Amino acid sequence: MPPASGAPDLSHVRNIGIAAHIDAGKTTLTERILYYTGASHKIGEVHDGEAHMDYLAEEQAHGITIMAAVTQCPWKDHLVQVVDTPGHVDFTIEVERSMRVLDGAVLVLDGVRGVEPQTETVWRQANRFDLPLMYFVNKMDRPGADFSRAMDSIRKRLNGEPVPICVPVEEEVVHLVEKTVTRFGGERGEILETRPCEDALWEQVAEHREAMLLAAAEVDDDIAEQVLEEMDPDPAAVWGALRTATLAGTIHPCFGGSALRNQGVQPLLDGVLKLLPSPEERPPARGMTPKEEWVEVTMDAEGPLAALAFKVQLWEGRRHVFVRIYRGTLKAGDTVQLAASSVNERVARIFDVDANKKKRIDEAYAGQIVLLAGLRRATTGDTLCAPGEPVLLESIVARDPVLGLAIEPESSKDEEKLLEVLNKFQEEDPTLVLEEDEETGQRILRGMGELHLQIAFERLEREFNLKVRAGKPAVVLRESILGSGSGSTSFHRVIEHEESRLEMRANAKARVQALERGAGITFDIQPTVKPAGTQLKPDQLQAITDGAHDASSAGPLQGAPLQDLHIQITEVETFGPASSPQALRVAVAEAVRKAIETAGGALLQPIMATEVVVPEESMGGVLGDLQSRGALIHDTRAEFGTASITCDAPLQKLLGYTTDLRSMTRGRGQFTMSFDRFDSV
Ligand code: GDP
Ligand code: MG
Repeated sequence: MPPASGAPDLSHVRNIGIAAHIDAGKTTLTERILYYTGASHKIGEVHDGEAHMDYLAEEQAHGITIMAAVTQCPWKDHLVQVVDTPGHVDFTIEVERSMRVLDGAVLVLDGVRGVEPQTETVWRQANRFDLPLMYFVNKMDRPGADFSRAMDSIRKRLNGEPVPICVPVEEEVVHLVEKTVTRFGGERGEILETRPCEDALWEQVAEHREAMLLAAAEVDDDIAEQVLEEMDPDPAAVWGALRTATLAGTIHPCFGGSALRNQGVQPLLDGVLKLLPSPEERPPARGMTPKEEWVEVTMDAEGPLAALAFKVQLWEGRRHVFVRIYRGTLKAGDTVQLAASSVNERVARIFDVDANKKKRIDEAYAGQIVLLAGLRRATTGDTLCAPGEPVLLESIVARDPVLGLAIEPESSKDEEKLLEVLNKFQEEDPTLVLEEDEETGQRILRGMGELHLQIAFERLEREFNLKVRAGKPAVVLRESILGSGSGSTSFHRVIEHEESRLEMRANAKARVQALERGAGITFDIQPTVKPAGTQLKPDQLQAITDGAHDASSAGPLQGAPLQDLHIQITEVETFGPASSPQALRVAVAEAVRKAIETAGGALLQPIMATEVVVPEESMGGVLGDLQSRGALIHDTRAEFGTASITCDAPLQKLLGYTTDLRSMTRGRGQFTMSFDRFDSV
């Protein structure tokens, strides 16, 4: 279908993400990209006043990189849009969400360490959305860096099909397709000197060249023939073949260099244009209809609107929502429906994404990423649709902020300001939750992990000049039951007040049964009703359901919400008008509580899927320590002097682990974790 009038030409757009294991050089590389493309004018001080912070603790130590959720980097009459993917696993859902709106990704590897655990995590997430991937093997200036070995680790650990494109040799980069060599001159590597590759150097990379040509030959018979006859195929044809294979996900082009020494970055950018897809070249997105049927959402400016919100940011105190439009056309002033909740909202203004200079536009089309103002409810993960035509681009994953701590301002006059600021934080980040403890009246801030909360505190101080006192972090608990139990109540109360007399009376019986972990709560509310022949009214039936829910909100041990049990209301007995909905609700809740108490309670703690990476010689000690923390070890692996351990561990026992791990490994150990489930320990 021809583009709607005014729709931009998307064939020259590349929406990419840059992802990496901590310290591989993502920030350093990104800074170079912004600099060479003119998106920023300084290296090392990437700054745009209102943008959000880079989340890595390491980065905070050596200065914070500030980057908008999407930055436009114009490169050789194309527009590369770099979508920021938060680096820490505390933010896994955010990472996945930004992957969702990408058309391709560059994974950065450390040339000495090769594939690391977080590279694997990101790789899995990218694969979930069938994202075409390229690799940048960074830090090739480091002693011990080895391009071939890094590619080996892609093959072994990711089962990937790495294909070399630009091979770093000393301070230069050899271009296997073009048969050229580039040297990076000038103060910041901005002056490129490219020459035909001399024979001696070409010999050195002959194996790589062959591997690259074989990959191209796989998809193009003409190239295959030329390779057999030892002729040099036309570079344009080779690019075409490599592009086809990259888009199909069958190969992963590899570039190399050193971001820090300004080597190899521009060839990587060229590679992004040549090898990664434009929005139009991506397969259609999948969406779910209200009838829970999967449908294809084809990129088409004419169809009904479907757009995914993937980031909320505040500018000048106003909420702005980043969306990627998958189908349809959005006009300023349009009303959209939030597919998950059926809420309708009005989009007041639309902006081009380049956050530095917000440029207002009137319309946006399928394939574009834009910024919307005026939405109050829409948040990260929401699908925005044409009213009456809902389709879910993403099922909203329940996020459990599993760590909480009490928080109060140092000065009581800051009380109001603190609440206001925390409210803003919550709007930007739905995994940050502020709650009031009903018993103590304390304010509890909950998040996904220690780092997550720590970053929130740092922002309070740095950006808002608020000093706060925080309590000790405490994990969020859940409860379940052991086995099964039953309970019954006879509820009878008479309230006499002056002339009036109110009688409330109802009997109820309930049974509860433990379910497997992760099952949630199921209800069976079809009680035998006494006296026989009684017809319950709708409000009485509702009251029975409400009573069962009331009882499930707090367990017998700590009053934590219950999960993983089946609640059955087996019998209710009514006594004429005295069995008001209120009376039934109280009786049912009490019967369920008794049943739960007979069964006995079980405390559930957040269990984290954890990956620990340490120097091989520390592995024994670290393993022993993990076991003493109650970790269940799934896998250990040692390669290139580095050991990685995959395990499940209770969050409670991982509090402060960053510091302990550092001291066990003389600062070299790293770990990442993400919430897996609530379970007994
Ligand atoms: P990130 O955690 O992936 O964002 O990594 P950073 O960009 O913050 O880099 C981590 C560390 O590696 C910093 O000390 C960088 O200076 C250093 N680094 C980054 N790129 C290179 C490189 O190409 N060569 C060398 N030797 N060090 C690098
Ligand atoms: Mg970084």
